[in-house]
Parts: sequence; structure tokens; C-alpha cells
Amino acid sequence: MNTNWMEKSACIDISPDVFFPSDGVGVIVAKSICDNCLVSESCLEYALQNQIDHGVWGGCSERQRRKILKVKRIEDLVN
Ligand code: SF4
Repeated sequence: MNTNWMEKSACIDISPDVFFPSDGVGVIVAKSICDNCLVSESCLEYALQNQIDHGVWGGCSERQRRKILKVKRIEDLVN
């Protein structure tokens, strides 16, 4: 998958640790940065395609991504 979008990310100069929070407050902080990111859709798609389990990607927490993948699997079964 093309990763050129990473060069335009809002987090390019932010420590990756911010996006691997240990609590809910940290998740909120990370997601607030993602809210202003121009490449959040590409970031989320990258995390989903690569089944990245940890961290905040594309403005979505681990739990949110698991739900998205679950829905996609169900849709694939139905279609
Ligand atoms: S959506 Fe969030 S984690 Fe993804 S590139 Fe943008 S700021 Fe970084």
C-alpha cells in the first residue's frame, strides 16, 4: 500500500508515543490531533488493511477499528 500520505500527516512531528496511549484521556488527546489531519482516511485504511491492533490511527481507537473490521467481515459474508 502506498504510504506517501504519511508525509502530510498532522502527527509527522509528534512523538509516536502519543498515538499509543495507555488510558482514555490519552486516546482523546490522540484523536484530537487526528481530527485536524488531512490524511486521516488514508491512515485509517492503512491500519485496517494491515490489521494494526494497537494505537490510534485515522482518529479511531483500537476498539473502534475492531468494530469496523467486524462490520466489514459481516458485510463480506452477506455480499
Ligand atoms: S490520522 Fe492521526 S495518526 Fe493518522 S496520520 Fe493523521 S494525525 Fe497521524
